[in-house]
Amino acid sequence: MFLSIKGLAKSFGSNEVLKNIDVNIEKGKVLSIIGPSGSGKTTLLRCLNSLEEPDKGIFTFNDGLTLDFEKKISKQEILKLRQKSGMVFQSYNLFPHKTAFENVTEGPLIVQKRKKAEVKELAEGLLEKVGLKDKMDLYPHQLSGGQQQRVGIARALAMEPELMLFDEPTSALDPELIGEVLTVIKDLARDNWTMVIVTHELQFAGEVSDEVLFMDGGYIVEQGSPEQVLKSPKEVRTQQFLQRIL
Ligand code: ADP
Repeated sequence: MFLSIKGLAKSFGSNEVLKNIDVNIEKGKVLSIIGPSGSGKTTLLRCLNSLEEPDKGIFTFNDGLTLDFEKKISKQEILKLRQKSGMVFQSYNLFPHKTAFENVTEGPLIVQKRKKAEVKELAEGLLEKVGLKDKMDLYPHQLSGGQQQRVGIARALAMEPELMLFDEPTSALDPELIGEVLTVIKDLARDNWTMVIVTHELQFAGEVSDEVLFMDGGYIVEQGSPEQVLKSPKEVRTQQFLQRIL
């Protein structure tokens, strides 16, 4: 087990977006989160990376780091939580005035203060891994959406996080560009990265995941193997969602 979460709750004003969520993230495994729009998927992911602070919930990591959000949490603990994961956003969020290479090296150089030569080697290797070594001196606007998202993945990997988070990584892409991004994510799964993926791509979720979690209305309605949740869901709400989307 990499991370155990118990009793996670989050509201925006009177809108209870996450209601008493328990979830375990297994080391080296891929967990996909599916569910209708507005069900709380992105908020759950953002809580994992402390882009949102939970109102309640206890996070226990395999290295002993424990955060209880009902208690006061220090800046240092939040920083530790943030450093554990790398996030890949729907809209890439690349720095527009930096090249692909500079986007990947920025974090390790500026945040982690690593040595230039070492970071250069790391970035070249990662850009090669996502199939963009020949494009590393281009700027985001010179790249297709699929290429930009692959830079986004290389950039998150460059921080060497223990957990990779993907927030609908292909939903802003034209259909013909989706495959190249999914292929990169499948490669990472094969390399045993620990990943949590919010996705509408059910076929992809079925292929890449060890576990699928269906959310609706701020609750986890059902979770299990991809075969079970996607092919023979037990809960009516899951059945209805899958019928609508397939
Ligand atoms: P999903 O990813 O399943 O579409 P979200 O987690 O994005 O769902 O959103 C769940 C609910 O939380 C929605 O009702 C949304 O409007 C609300 N919400 C999300 N982020 C914020 C925010 N920063 N401020 C206020 N409401 C938010």
